[in-house]
Amino acid sequence: MKLDILAIAAHPDDVELTCGGTLLKMANKGYKTGILDLTAGEMGTRGTPETRAKEAALAAKILRVSWRSTLGVPDSDVQSSRQHKMRLAQIIRDLRPHTVILPYWQARHPDHYHASLLGYEGCFLAGLKQLPLTGEPHRPFKILYATSFEGMPPTFIVDITKEYAQRRKAILAYGSQFRPAKSESRQRVFLAIDELDSRMDVLARHHGQLINVKYGEPFHQKEPMQAEDIFTLPVRSI
Ligand SMILES: [Zn+2]
Repeated sequence: MKLDILAIAAHPDDVELTCGGTLLKMANKGYKTGILDLTAGEMGTRGTPETRAKEAALAAKILRVSWRSTLGVPDSDVQSSRQHKMRLAQIIRDLRPHTVILPYWQARHPDHYHASLLGYEGCFLAGLKQLPLTGEPHRPFKILYATSFEGMPPTFIVDITKEYAQRRKAILAYGSQFRPAKSESRQRVFLAIDELDSRMDVLARHHGQLINVKYGEPFHQKEPMQAEDIFTLPVRSI
């Protein structure tokens, strides 16, 4: 399978939370999208890996993602090791994505910044001819960084107003992570579902406001944006 857009992140649900609306928007435009979770999220205190895998598959369906897989890196130990980079490079060669979305390279959670580095280096290696990988060398044309978790000033924001309700459903598909189990008191849940819901809402509204729409998802790219026609630039200045 060949993909147009591949989002890579450390844990199942990271992609949904940071760029799920954008992936859905792109799928609705006809692009083939995919998600690669580096770990299966097995260090999460809640939910078994089997439950999380089911939830991830459901979330992918809700976001109309064509391909989803796990690289099999141990949770809480994401590192840009040679072994992981080579496996990721093979996946990049197999899927040949035009655009790759990575987590921002500075983050609170070590898995997130290591995922950013591992993602970038895997994309780079995939283009080297001499490596012992199968298939033709391939490097994505564009690498974007999802900044939603980290609050960095974004290079651009995608309007996800139309996709927001669906993205919310995909996030809430991870019921084992957020919903208090019947046997648990609400107080013991790290992030109760209503709290998560309101945080998601505030964050997406904040980014939406910056471009004068209701909901938005922020991205950073290292290279400047090119403009051909300064007359049609979006977002009102004053
Ligand atoms: Zn994460």
